[in-house]
Amino acid sequence: MKRYSAFAIAKNAVNYHRGWERAWAKPEPKPEYDAIIIGAGGHGLATAYYLGKNYGITNVAIVEKGWLGGGNTGRNTTIIRSNYLQDPSAAIYEKARSLYETMSQDLNYNVMFSPRGVMMLAQTEHEVRGYQRTAHANALQGVETKFISPQRVKQLCPIIELSGPRFPVLGALWQPRGGTARHDAVAWGYARACSDMGMDVIQQCEVTGITQSGGQVTGIETTKGVMKTKKLGIVVAGNSGHLADMGGFRLPLESVSLQALVSEPVKPCMDVVVMANTVHGYMSQSDKGEMVIGGGTDGFNSYTQRGSFHHLEETVRALIETFPMVSRLKMLRHWGGIVDVTGDRSPIISKTPLGGCFINCGWGTGGFKAIPGSGWAMAELMSTGETQGLAAEFGLNRFQEGRFIDESVAAGVAH
Ligand SMILES: Cc1cc2nc3c(=O)[nH]c(=O)nc-3n(C[C@H](O)[C@H](O)[C@H](O)COP(=O)(O)OP(=O)(O)OC[C@H]3O[C@@H](n4cnc5c(N)ncnc54)[C@H](O)[C@@H]3O)c2cc1C
Repeated sequence: MKRYSAFAIAKNAVNYHRGWERAWAKPEPKPEYDAIIIGAGGHGLATAYYLGKNYGITNVAIVEKGWLGGGNTGRNTTIIRSNYLQDPSAAIYEKARSLYETMSQDLNYNVMFSPRGVMMLAQTEHEVRGYQRTAHANALQGVETKFISPQRVKQLCPIIELSGPRFPVLGALWQPRGGTARHDAVAWGYARACSDMGMDVIQQCEVTGITQSGGQVTGIETTKGVMKTKKLGIVVAGNSGHLADMGGFRLPLESVSLQALVSEPVKPCMDVVVMANTVHGYMSQSDKGEMVIGGGTDGFNSYTQRGSFHHLEETVRALIETFPMVSRLKMLRHWGGIVDVTGDRSPIISKTPLGGCFINCGWGTGGFKAIPGSGWAMAELMSTGETQGLAAEFGLNRFQEGRFIDESVAAGVAH
């Protein structure tokens, strides 16, 4: 694979950019692999990447029913932060955040990581207490966050209205090295690196069955034929329930639609990410100038990857209280993705009742930020077969043992 660099751009410019090679290969499936990952979203691709990079396992296929990053990875609002309350969460999200810092260099692909700072507004006394508690927990965990005053909030984000009619801004939990990254680029960068290691990224290939013998996985059935393997990773977010069903087990999660929207592009007016969890809306400005706005989940389960009007109205109405300028913006487009939500709002990175079959899911509304850390942990689990390291606390057994990692209240809106 040729390296991307300023020199390569200049050299190719001379030939009107006709000399670039394909970023990743388009292979036909082989009959057998050492490991197969189902799902070419960020988490599946990162798992494959770290299987190769950290454990030297490169005879790997990543099988995707649609296109690279076409699931939630390409539909999210790209907030990256690690200011969680519980120790296992802070550990994996902070590992991920730190890997984002060097991801562009690591993958030789510009993922546009922008550590512009993330603030979670405290707009009730309860939130003030909650975020102060999180700031103390983060200090013990080695995660850099701070509870800041309303005046500092206004300094960092002048378009905020501090004395909102219902919910004045009382402060915020501020993570200066949180931020955003370009979601497609994360998927494309990993895919290119996997392809370069000799892995097969197979798109438009739906998994329709999981084969097994004597309680051990033996392979998968797909729309492009059968592939054998003794190590299978299921990393399909909102479709996890379907795949678990094919493997003969059940998962404690629900699939719901989560929505987002963007406005028309405007001049730069906001260079931080703001989450307003009480009124429930969050916003950042993209490099193109669009205001990227995130809403909530539907109140019912579904597999439809689309937005709905009542959410748009609710989200924008909520945001206008804190950002009056939003009322003057035209909204450009909106969409939905199917997120997989667990009861304790923490992910599952686990062995399954089917031998050789592992699952990574339950990232719900907030897994983009976790992609590199999750891939790192899942690769360790798949290569060693042991639940250890970053994945240790995220096993399926926690739901039987009542050992929840409760981020539902602590994380507020977990995007
Ligand atoms: C609107 C919205 C906003 C969000 N905002 C944020 C945010 O700001 N910050 C944040 O951290 N997170 C956010 N998230 C959550 C985040 O997007 C997800 O947690 C994360 O992208 C999940 O990645 P993944 O790789 O697990 O899943 P996906 O990207 O969904 O990938 C799973 C892949 O599996 C494939 N697949 C499914 N079934 C099969 C099959 N049978 N055969 C083959 N392939 C299959 C799918 O086609 C898909 O490409 C948001 C999500 C949404 C929807």
